[in-house]
Amino acid sequence: SVIPDYLTEALDDVRPDTSGERAGYIPELATADPERLGAVFATLEGAVYGAGDIDTEFTIQSISKPFTYALALADRGFAPVLAKVGVEPSGEAFNEISLEPSTGRPLNPMINAGAITTHSLAGVEGLAPDQRVERVVDGLSAFAGRRLSIDEAVCASEMEHAHRNLAIAYMLRSHGILTEDPRAVVDGYVRQCSVLVTARDLAMMAVTLANRGVNPLSGVQVVPAPVVRQVLSVMATCGMYDAAGDWATQVGIPAKSGVAGGLIGALPGQIGIATFSPRLDPHGNSVRGVSLFERFSSDMGLHVMEVP
Ligand code: GLN
Repeated sequence: SVIPDYLTEALDDVRPDTSGERAGYIPELATADPERLGAVFATLEGAVYGAGDIDTEFTIQSISKPFTYALALADRGFAPVLAKVGVEPSGEAFNEISLEPSTGRPLNPMINAGAITTHSLAGVEGLAPDQRVERVVDGLSAFAGRRLSIDEAVCASEMEHAHRNLAIAYMLRSHGILTEDPRAVVDGYVRQCSVLVTARDLAMMAVTLANRGVNPLSGVQVVPAPVVRQVLSVMATCGMYDAAGDWATQVGIPAKSGVAGGLIGALPGQIGIATFSPRLDPHGNSVRGVSLFERFSSDMGLHVMEVP
């Protein structure tokens, strides 16, 4: 197939760009090899095409947010989740302490305030914190189509410096958006962010969204189709934080980034894409990942607002 050659060429083109920094606020992430670079396409038929470092494990970080949102919607239903987390783009950084003034409701599930809340809504009501983590890891694994595990070192490293996320969680608790111990919820959320994936896993997770919630390889319907529509809509409007508008115009693919350097895009009915490169721009999005997606989108006409 010509696709691996195309991907190799695209990687070679972005490789010289060494701008950006690894996430320093989680010390363990700053030890990652900054030169790692990989890209994967996964089709609805289950074909996987990749080039570069596609089997290197790294932590999923914020790319877990759309999937945990999906699990919360599937497990609790739309109304209880929407009552606690909105769907409005914030145009702010991922870790902004931004809540709706009157209700204390986080603006959307892609920023940390919303994601900490959706973590608390995963699984049936009343689960103990560790059972909820299990539900989330099971769910993420079902999206990927293989058993995923947690990187304990990254998790411990983030927990030691989690003051900002703890502050957000205590704010949520004061508004009654969280109803339990804020520290336990942040601990669970950080475990969720510390799930290890490869670019290949992320492409499978993305194509499961592109395929109405059915993993093309396992055939499992992970979440119902209406949940997927909701998740992709929120990814399209909020997935890239304060760069969401640039992304929507330049790339035009529902997407989500993570501070370990992963980036996914899911084009409904067409393809799942994942890239991995650890250096980040000031928004916390992978520098080379953004370049690769810009290129994929224009080379293949993947922008959702373009007539194919
Ligand atoms: N675990 C990270 C945090 O909460 C995730 C951030 C990200 O990937 N953008 O800060």
